[in-house]
Amino acid sequence: MALKICKNGHRFEKNSACLVCPKCSSEEMKNKYAQELPFIGSPAFRAFDNSGIEKLADLTKYTEKELLALHGFGPKALGLLRERLKTKKLSFATK
Ligand SMILES: [Zn+2]
Repeated sequence: MALKICKNGHRFEKNSACLVCPKCSSEEMKNKYAQELPFIGSPAFRAFDNSGIEKLADLTKYTEKELLALHGFGPKALGLLRERLKTKKLSFATK
């Protein structure tokens, strides 16, 4: 493990050559989704990032069960998204 300091002054430890600061990457994730989605937590956003989910409308292609199967995604996040979808007259996929 080596202690590194990112351009924004966050100290973090990484054992690889990767210089991505965890704090900055979660901020980036938050900003990326902030316009479309309620804040559901960094792990959930990371799961979306890995699944290619970017917009509220992308969620309509997934069932609740599929979303809950994503690593880092829990019932609380699901509830928040369900509310947000409802305000746009959208819903999760049903199968
Ligand atoms: Zn940083």
